[in-house]
Amino acid sequence: MFDKILIANRGEIALRVIRAAREMGIKTVAVHSTADSDAMHVRMADESVCIGPPPSPQSYLSVPAIISACEITGAQAIHPGYGFLSENAEFVQIVEDHGITFIGPTAEHIRVMGDKITAKDTMKALGVPCVPGSDGGVPDLAAAKKIGEEFGYPVIIKATAGGGGRGMKVAMNANEMESAFMTARAEGKAAFGNDEVYIEKYLTTPRHIEIQVFGDGKGKAVHLGERDCSLQRRHQKVFEEAPGPSITPEERAKIGKVCADAVAKINYIGAGTIEFLYENGEFYFIEMNTRLQVEHPVTEAIFGVDLVREQILVAAGEPMSFGQDDLEINGHAIEVRINAEKLPNFSPCPGKITAYHAPGGLGVRMDSALYDGYSIPPYYDSLIGKLIVQGRDRAEALARLERALGELIVDGIDTTVPLFHALLQEPDLRSGNYNIHWLERWLAENMEQ
Ligand code: ADP
Repeated sequence: MFDKILIANRGEIALRVIRAAREMGIKTVAVHSTADSDAMHVRMADESVCIGPPPSPQSYLSVPAIISACEITGAQAIHPGYGFLSENAEFVQIVEDHGITFIGPTAEHIRVMGDKITAKDTMKALGVPCVPGSDGGVPDLAAAKKIGEEFGYPVIIKATAGGGGRGMKVAMNANEMESAFMTARAEGKAAFGNDEVYIEKYLTTPRHIEIQVFGDGKGKAVHLGERDCSLQRRHQKVFEEAPGPSITPEERAKIGKVCADAVAKINYIGAGTIEFLYENGEFYFIEMNTRLQVEHPVTEAIFGVDLVREQILVAAGEPMSFGQDDLEINGHAIEVRINAEKLPNFSPCPGKITAYHAPGGLGVRMDSALYDGYSIPPYYDSLIGKLIVQGRDRAEALARLERALGELIVDGIDTTVPLFHALLQEPDLRSGNYNIHWLERWLAENMEQ
C-alpha cells in the first residue's frame, strides 16, 4: 500500500479523498494555487505544495507543477478527483512514465472513452445498447441531412470530444440542421480542438440513468446499480438519486450485468460510470466517464461502501473488498448540488462566507470545503457543497432532505439552496415523475431566466 498520495484537485472532492486516505493510514499531499492558500483541503492535508497562480491552466492543470510536487514530497500516487486532469490520458501517461501510480483507469481506457465515437463503437462491440445514429463521424452537412432523413427528426449533433454539455446541438427538423451542425462543430473545435461530430436520434422524454461500475483491472468487475440524474439545467446535473425511482430490480440486474461484463472484458480498473438515456423501458448508452463522479455519494450511501478507498486499493494492486454478491441496496439516497450562484439566472456568486453551519443528524452527509470566514475565489467551479441524505425509502429521504436543507446556513453569498426548497414542493418531484427536460421547463415557468 502507498505511504503517501497527492491529490491533484481542490474543494470538496480533495477533502473526500483526504478522508479516505486518512482512514487507510495514508499520508496526503494537497496542491493549491495562490488563490487557495487558505482553502480547506490545504489545511486538512498532511502537507501542501503551492503549484502556481489562480488560473487553472497554470496550477491545477499544470502537469509539470503537479509532477514536481509529487517528486518533492515523495508521493507515490496521484488521485485526480473529478474535472481538471481526471480524464486526461496524456497526463496519466506522464504520471506513469515518472514511476508514479495514477489512481484511476489506464491512459488507454481514458483515451477510448474520452472520444465519444470510439466509446460508442467500443460499447456497441461489448454488447451495450446504444442510441441509434450515425455510424461514426459525419463529414459534412450533406451527410448530416441524409442521416436526419434516415433516422427522422429530431436529432442531436454531438462533438466527439465534447463534455460538460458543450458541443451538442439539437435539430428539430431539416431546416435547423445547418445551424445545429455548424454550431456543434464550431463548439467542438473551440472548446476541445476537435471539430468531428456525430449524430444521434434525439430522445424526447428520456430519463438520465447511469450505472456505477468498478473493476480490479484483472478481469473482475461489479456494478453498483444506477443513479437517476434526470434533473438537469443546461445538461448539468443538479439533483441525483439512487436507486432510480423508475427502475425495477429486474431491469437493474440486467443492465447492471451488461455493464459489469463489458468493463470486465476490457480489464477496466477503478471506478467508472456508464451513462444511459432511458425511455420506454429501454436503455441507450450515451457516454462513459472514466473517473469518480460528483454524485458518487448516493451510491456509497445505499451500498455502504467507500468508493475512494476501493480506488486506492485497486490502484495499489490489492483486491477489491467486495464482490457482486456482497452488494445489497439499503434504502434511498438523494444528493443536491449546492452552487455559489444567484437565482434566478444562476450567475456565479463568489465571495466571503460570513457564517456556515452544516446540517447533521441521522442519514445526513455534507461534503463541502466551506468554513466560517472562507472566501470563495472567483476562478473555479461554482460547486461549493453536496448535501446527501439517506432514508429507508424515497419518502423518508425527501423528508430528510427538506429538514437538512432547513438546517444549512451559508451566509454572505447566494446559493442554489432556495431552488431545492421550491422543488421539494413540486408533486412531480415528490412522486419521481420527471425526465431530462422537466427542470428546464419548470425553471422557465417558475423563475425568470
Ligand atoms: P456531456 O459529455 O457533455 O455531458 P452527454 O453525452 O453525457 O454529454 O449528454 C449530456 C446530456 O445531454 C444528457 O444527460 C441528456 O440530457 C442530453 N442528451 C445527450 N444525448 C441525447 C440524445 N440522444 N437525446 C436526448 N438527449 C440527449
